[in-house]
Amino acid sequence: MKTLKAYKYRLKPNADQLVQINQHFGSVRFVKNWAIALRSRYYKIFGKSISSRRIQDQLVKKKSLPKWAWLNDVNSQSLLAALKDVDTAFTNFFKHGTKYPRFKKKYDSHQSYSAPQHVAVLDNQVKLPKIGLVRFVKHRELPEGKIKTCTISRNATGKFFISILLEKEVNDIIPCVITESETVAGDLGVKSFLTLSDGTVIPNPRFLQTSLEKLRKAQRLLSRMKKGSKRRAKQRIVVARLHEHVANARKDFHHKLTHYFAVKSHATTYVGEDLMVKNMIKNPKLSRHITDVGWGMFDVFMTYKMRENGKNYIKIDTFTPSSKECRMCHTKHTELKLSDRVFVCPACGHTEDRDLHAAINIKRFGLQQISEQVGITCGVKCSSRTKLSRSSVRARDVTTSLHRSPEAHARVGNPTWRE
Ligand SMILES: [Zn+2]
Repeated sequence: MKTLKAYKYRLKPNADQLVQINQHFGSVRFVKNWAIALRSRYYKIFGKSISSRRIQDQLVKKKSLPKWAWLNDVNSQSLLAALKDVDTAFTNFFKHGTKYPRFKKKYDSHQSYSAPQHVAVLDNQVKLPKIGLVRFVKHRELPEGKIKTCTISRNATGKFFISILLEKEVNDIIPCVITESETVAGDLGVKSFLTLSDGTVIPNPRFLQTSLEKLRKAQRLLSRMKKGSKRRAKQRIVVARLHEHVANARKDFHHKLTHYFAVKSHATTYVGEDLMVKNMIKNPKLSRHITDVGWGMFDVFMTYKMRENGKNYIKIDTFTPSSKECRMCHTKHTELKLSDRVFVCPACGHTEDRDLHAAINIKRFGLQQISEQVGITCGVKCSSRTKLSRSSVRARDVTTSLHRSPEAHARVGNPTWRE
């Protein structure tokens, strides 16, 4: 089986290379904007879209003119890749209803270009077309594989990166059997980051809180400064650095936590809620908190890490009454408010911490969902009144879950999560 995976490294270009890379950003930006304008104009006049082939021919013709000759200083394939990007953006706009392609600005904090071919990695240097050997920080080995494409980028604080998309040949990984004892469920919260069905509480990282406070202060200062002033330009970099710090800290936290579930934890199945983060962000009261804690990132990391380690990641529907249905008598507690931290069942009087109660429920619903699909019993009783909505577990996950990988057998012990 072939897989694609991106590896990102920090680039350390020298002064000359820095100029050349910036030149690539500029040229690619120019070609993109030209293509967007051309497509828009063509559509206005003729009422249909121009083919990408014709735009490509136009570009080749234009490059031979003295006025456009400067475009020959950069890698021609990067320019063609830019045209392809614009093409994709328009296709997405017409077919999938995304936003209309926007012009790129010189002062956008993030700049990038891609090099689809002729990139080679030699020790701690990477050979880029038209630029040559550029040093990079090899914080991890690049595995064997075929380089599909590379993207060179500059972020808001002026750091350069290269992202290498690698095609690798990997053996099929057979996920573990799903058993009740080796299943753990988690309830994502705003107050504490995650509460597990075994009672473990993973708090929101505190360093993030202090950094966010610093960031708010710096942003307030920035908004008071005069536009176009030198002080404002300086403060912008201060804010960008803090943003970068917060983003890095959050990413680090999520990598460590998901690594715990995928590698260290004894549990071979994790059940979580399918949160549809995008929809929830539309709720203005919750949005600030949700983007702060980064649930989307947790989901992305969990999905690929669990799969790579032969573990199961099950998501139950957002509308499953995981927090409102009593786990003892299955009565729905409709009056439960978001501010209620303790769950007290109005029918049987069962009292439990709200998040823990929800986590245990999520585990129950997840196992029920799986047993319904595979036709095996997991030894979990569920109320017949509970209507489960469309499942988000892919068929592949279910059909292959009846075998257990030898790696899973080898895993012993149960380390607990520590930040
Ligand atoms: Zn009850």
